[in-house]
Amino acid sequence: MHTDLVAALDIGGTKIAGALVDGDGTILARAQRPTPAREDGDTVMRAVGEVLGVLTGSPLWEGVHAVGIGSAGPVDASAGTVSPVNVPGWRAYPLVDRVREVTGNLPVELIGDGVAIAAAEHWQGAARGHDNALCMVVSTGVGGGLILGGRLHPGPTGNAGHIGHISVDLDGDPCPCGARGCVERIASGPHIARRALENGWLPGPDGDASAAAVAAAAHAGDPVALASFERAAQALAAGIAATATLVEIDIAVIGGGVGNAGEILFAPLRRALRDYATLSFVQRLTVTPAQTGTDAGLVGAAAAALARGTAAGV
Ligand SMILES: [Zn+2]
Repeated sequence: MHTDLVAALDIGGTKIAGALVDGDGTILARAQRPTPAREDGDTVMRAVGEVLGVLTGSPLWEGVHAVGIGSAGPVDASAGTVSPVNVPGWRAYPLVDRVREVTGNLPVELIGDGVAIAAAEHWQGAARGHDNALCMVVSTGVGGGLILGGRLHPGPTGNAGHIGHISVDLDGDPCPCGARGCVERIASGPHIARRALENGWLPGPDGDASAAAVAAAAHAGDPVALASFERAAQALAAGIAATATLVEIDIAVIGGGVGNAGEILFAPLRRALRDYATLSFVQRLTVTPAQTGTDAGLVGAAAAALARGTAAGV
């Protein structure tokens, strides 16, 4: 029987995923429900309870010794609460207490979803073997997490590494977070698409005006589409260079839908990094696509639970 299992939850605005994960990162059982994101807090929690019900009903459950949660943020790990932007029914919602109630008071580790991706990439992905790394998700939003000194660095509230809301344009557009010129306001998929449309890019006959459609046009050589990705790459490079200069990361890993765009993003990103990461100690900085796939949030939440209370950080 497995005795080194943890339960992992990955909570986002569209789905709630759960899994039982062993010490090697293998997923042994899983469950998933859509997030009733527009419903009240208790209804959302019932969906989490259904996912946990599947897991606690597994014959493997008796080997589970901790629970890891990666949640859309902001989270507050010190208070055990979450306030996901896309789930308005949860504001300072006591998720850790609620999960403990249904899991027999097991220890619960809560981190933000960007931090979870960093844990997953460090454990099993492109940041493996790197002691100092920034791992990012660039999709509808821009998030991230840090590995410092060989260990996951969630910070006191579980949000450290949230590069999407570093300002890289002092007089830039207002961001919903209240600041201006944030990385997310320039580099997220919706903003890549918006900028391309504003500058005259026309969607194809199917009317698809998503960032993926802009990426396809860029791959086909459309100059406006290419320029929108180049602008996103500049914003990412400025944020990554700032991070590297502050804490001496040597690799930045980029996942998410925009991160999957390939060289139309990474080629201008490497060029822009040469402009922004100029000091001797950050010149070795590399950028690379993420390797963990759709299970990254679950794997990262499991990593945080497994690392809990041990010296061997993941
Ligand atoms: Zn912002």
